[in-house]
Amino acid sequence: MQIRENVSLQGLNTFGLAASARYFCSLHKLGGLRTVMQWTQEHPELPVLFLGGGSNLLFVEDFPGLVVHVRLRDREVLGQDNDYVYVRAAAGENWHEFVRWTIEQGFAGLENLSLIPGTVGAAPVQNIGAYGVELKDCLHELQAVDWRTGELREFSQEECRFGYRDSYFKSVEPGRWLIVAVVFRLPRKPQWKTDYAGVREQLAGKELDACTISDAIIRMRQEKLPDPAQIGNAGSFFKNPVIAQAQWDALKAQFPAIPGWPQAGGVKTSAGWLIDQCGWKGRREGDAGTYAKHALVLVNHGNATGQQIWAFAQGIILSVQDKFGIRLEAEPGIIFHPCSGFTGQ
Ligand SMILES: Cc1cc2nc3c(=O)[nH]c(=O)nc-3n(C[C@H](O)[C@H](O)[C@H](O)COP(=O)(O)OP(=O)(O)OC[C@H]3O[C@@H](n4cnc5c(N)ncnc54)[C@H](O)[C@@H]3O)c2cc1C
Repeated sequence: MQIRENVSLQGLNTFGLAASARYFCSLHKLGGLRTVMQWTQEHPELPVLFLGGGSNLLFVEDFPGLVVHVRLRDREVLGQDNDYVYVRAAAGENWHEFVRWTIEQGFAGLENLSLIPGTVGAAPVQNIGAYGVELKDCLHELQAVDWRTGELREFSQEECRFGYRDSYFKSVEPGRWLIVAVVFRLPRKPQWKTDYAGVREQLAGKELDACTISDAIIRMRQEKLPDPAQIGNAGSFFKNPVIAQAQWDALKAQFPAIPGWPQAGGVKTSAGWLIDQCGWKGRREGDAGTYAKHALVLVNHGNATGQQIWAFAQGIILSVQDKFGIRLEAEPGIIFHPCSGFTGQ
């Protein structure tokens, strides 16, 4: 296990930001953990950041501590009962490749989550979701190592405390648990979720199976979202806000076109719509901007710095606050300096 100094993270974050890590190591095998943890115990002043595909992080500054790049690979079918097939994947597996592999095995359940960038291990952190499905719908349990003690623990689905783009690992104890593997519970009699806007139209007249749905989702995502290999981004930059019913009623009276979906605790509205209404869609300041086809996606047109992207995001937050009285919350982890690891804003 080699710990390197001053390593560039530019190729390891999908914004393509020229940040660096003071210290860096790649974790290929669980056996390497002991050495890394011993090293961090000898350097207690340094923060630690677990890094997967870097597709949900904004490096506003260089990272002043140790970045642990999770590269653990492995996937296997564990078995089945009457209702489910159980499949296990190590944290460093590429998420989309894993989804397609489950489909090739003849399993369903993850097809709506096709083409989401990143790794299996990061997927539970923000309970990834798309097209009416969230990771929590198929997660059975996961294994994680307590970075303080080295203990390996299993978390049941309930213990992960999943919420909308949220989990125990993101907001209760960020940075403490290194997820090393996830076990999925995939239904043997799938119920296709194709009601989401646009999906039904894509699939009209087609016989449904996991592969057909996955292909349609891939097409839709490719049309709508920028490919990080072409233009730096981290997907949706803001969460869709959930507001109280009274605030919703007042906004609906003032802005009749505002979209909304009833939720526990209020009404969820579209961050993209709010941003668009404030005139930010397609706007650009230097190399920081919003994607022309999708106001919710912040992009790096080339040489933007993390500070510039963050300043641009602050401009959006202030505009939306002024016009609608809603404070947007960033979805990616924002890495500031000095910091003690992950900051979820
Ligand atoms: C084009 C694009 C589209 C996207 N679309 C979606 C979408 O539809 N839905 C959605 O939910 N997200 C979406 N995202 C966001 C992103 O892909 C997901 O959040 C993804 O799960 C992040 O995985 P990652 O491996 O890149 O995580 P990273 O960005 O490397 O890390 C994210 C967080 O997880 C932590 N982490 C990483 N690995 C581990 C681990 N093994 N154990 C513990 N903590 C860990 C990190 O410390 C960090 O806090 C999109 C991003 C892009 C660029």
